[in-house]
Amino acid sequence: MLGVDIGATKMAVGAVDGTGSVLWSARVATPSDSGAEEIWSALAGLVSSAPDTLRYAGCGVGCAGPMEPGGSTVSPLNIPGWRDFPLRSRIAGLTGLTTAVDNDAKALALGEGWVGTAAGEANYISMVVSTGIGGGIVVDGRLLEGRAGNAGHVGHLIVEPDGRLCVCGARGCLEAEASGSAILALTGRPPADAVAALVYRVGTMVGRAVADVANLLDLHLATVAGSVALGYGAPFFEAAQRELSARSKLRFSAGCRIVPSRLGAWGPLVGAAAVVRREIGAQ
Ligand SMILES: [Zn+2]
Repeated sequence: MLGVDIGATKMAVGAVDGTGSVLWSARVATPSDSGAEEIWSALAGLVSSAPDTLRYAGCGVGCAGPMEPGGSTVSPLNIPGWRDFPLRSRIAGLTGLTTAVDNDAKALALGEGWVGTAAGEANYISMVVSTGIGGGIVVDGRLLEGRAGNAGHVGHLIVEPDGRLCVCGARGCLEAEASGSAILALTGRPPADAVAALVYRVGTMVGRAVADVANLLDLHLATVAGSVALGYGAPFFEAAQRELSARSKLRFSAGCRIVPSRLGAWGPLVGAAAVVRREIGAQ
């Protein structure tokens, strides 16, 4: 399968085999401030560079949201040149492959369940804690979609009722308290420079949000990827687990674990491939 990952800073393509291994990959910078066709031509050139010696069962795409259900059109908040851009039909036309598009965080959740930390689990949340905070939730073995495909936006759970103003307009969202951009706004410094007390607080906020999700949806596992969480490592996860354990006390949610993603840097491409794998029912 081809996997395509589209973000505000870079776009990547990979050839992913049936076991979730990335056989080949390439990337380019996203010309985010360019017009729609210039961004498309950068992406089309990248996708066309995939080796034609391999055979592809389909093309899966993970893209920042929002988007119309199924990615028929995408309008990524941080790629202003694309508004209602017909991404799925463009890629299908370019590659001639069955093409499936989903939100990048939901794509990663599918990848985690396929060959990642949640492999074999039917109920879990997969989160990304980086510049922003996203997530995808699998219940009873199915990725939650919601009315317009937006289920899993864990970054907008309220973790501090009178907290900072979020980009969404509400106050105290997890994304406004614990994302990389929030840490930068709070401290004036990159997230990697955070002192121990701030790392503890960020972990605590993430654990608090996960506790709500676990209590609501009867989950026992949260996997976390993203540069902020993985960059902080053990102190982040210990703080998150402490808060999660303190706030998930129901018989079914007690014991919920929060652990690092093990897909590493390949997560977005493996997740993208998992989007079309679900569509075509590949094994
Ligand atoms: Zn928000």
